[in-house]
Amino acid sequence: MSNPSLMPVEQALENMLNTVSTITDKETVELSEALGRILNRPVNSTLDVPGYDNSAMDGYAVRSSEAKKGSRLKVVGVAAAGHPYNDAIPENGCVRIMTGAPIPDSVDAVIIQENTEANQDKSEITVLQNVAESDNIRRRGSDIALGEEVIATGTRLSPVDIGLLASLGIEEVAVYRKPKIAVFSTGDELVAPGGKLKSGQIFDSNRYLLLAMLEKMGVEAVNLGRLNDDLEAISQALQDATQNCDAVITSGGVSVGDADFTKTALEQLGSVSFWKVAMKPGKPFAFGKLKDTWFFGLPGNPVAAAVTMDQLTQPVLKHLSGEKHISSESYQATAAEYLKKRPGRADFQRGWFEQDNNSQLKVSSAGSQSSAVLSTLKRANCFIRLEQDRGPVNAGEEVTILPFSSLLR
Ligand code: AMP
Ligand code: MG
Repeated sequence: MSNPSLMPVEQALENMLNTVSTITDKETVELSEALGRILNRPVNSTLDVPGYDNSAMDGYAVRSSEAKKGSRLKVVGVAAAGHPYNDAIPENGCVRIMTGAPIPDSVDAVIIQENTEANQDKSEITVLQNVAESDNIRRRGSDIALGEEVIATGTRLSPVDIGLLASLGIEEVAVYRKPKIAVFSTGDELVAPGGKLKSGQIFDSNRYLLLAMLEKMGVEAVNLGRLNDDLEAISQALQDATQNCDAVITSGGVSVGDADFTKTALEQLGSVSFWKVAMKPGKPFAFGKLKDTWFFGLPGNPVAAAVTMDQLTQPVLKHLSGEKHISSESYQATAAEYLKKRPGRADFQRGWFEQDNNSQLKVSSAGSQSSAVLSTLKRANCFIRLEQDRGPVNAGEEVTILPFSSLLR
């Protein structure tokens, strides 16, 4: 059933990932600037966390051998977070202790307050429950040991990573330089938002959509505007972009129409391959290099541009940025209705998934699957990924869903 002139999605991705190499430049950023940046070398702990044995609860620090049910212990002092108790503790003595306070020498457990009864002036407690050695003590190094790798190279730093780095006292990290990625759109019919449409014109949506997706990726996005279907202008813009950008993304003009000048300009300027990728939407796609700048030529129809950006370009840009590969989320769901599909291309249909009353995932079509209809992308929360050779899907069949990545949300 497959058309041999169409390249399967997996092969297109593999080709690009094998060709593009990760940026080599790195820079040092302060913790406050590090969110979303990609770690250039591993972070190993220079500390034990916690740095000392401390109490997990409010209660009394005791010797477990003395703290038997019914025994009475004398309260000889207080230990609070930031205020250790440093004196000796006599036989049958204990120390009132708060959460986070260091465990004094010569005791080996904390008995929680609820398992004790204090006398009137709180100088003595009666133990109501036995306590075992180490109970309610957070041991030094039990969270993170000195020298342990805490965050690996290629990690995109999350808020949790930032907190973890702060807990280790780290104020600066080495990250990859952000790649600089230019976007322009081509088409005589396109008018920038804010302008007035004349007959036969439409607003340029792709450039804004693609720039927003790049912003979500945390790269440095450069807006090169809209170009007419004019060989000279397109060639010039491509040449300018190769001066100082790591990649250029264009939309439109890569199919076989008479006005598809991007294709001609690329053939003249660089080593660019034009692929017919076996995906729907998104068949025409160009990938290659102009001097040292990577080139991605996305189709003009807005949904096709969004899908090829998300599914084909995003993983390659992540690789370029130094992010280690994380496979995208996918789940099996039941088709809630008939889905139109022809064998030959992998479909990325716009779908809406939710859990039914039996906690099963079910998915329905978000509406029109035309690659020109952006409004159904808005009404979707996932792609229904239907295999290349698959035919129509009946209600009740299992399908794979890809919940939208952060780029589309
Ligand atoms: P093309 O690939 O240039 O032949 O364009 C295919 C379709 O996508 C045409 O209907 C174009 O008008 C439309 N299109 C191309 N670029 C854009 C854009 N930047 N924004 C919205 N629609 C576009
Ligand atoms: Mg065009």
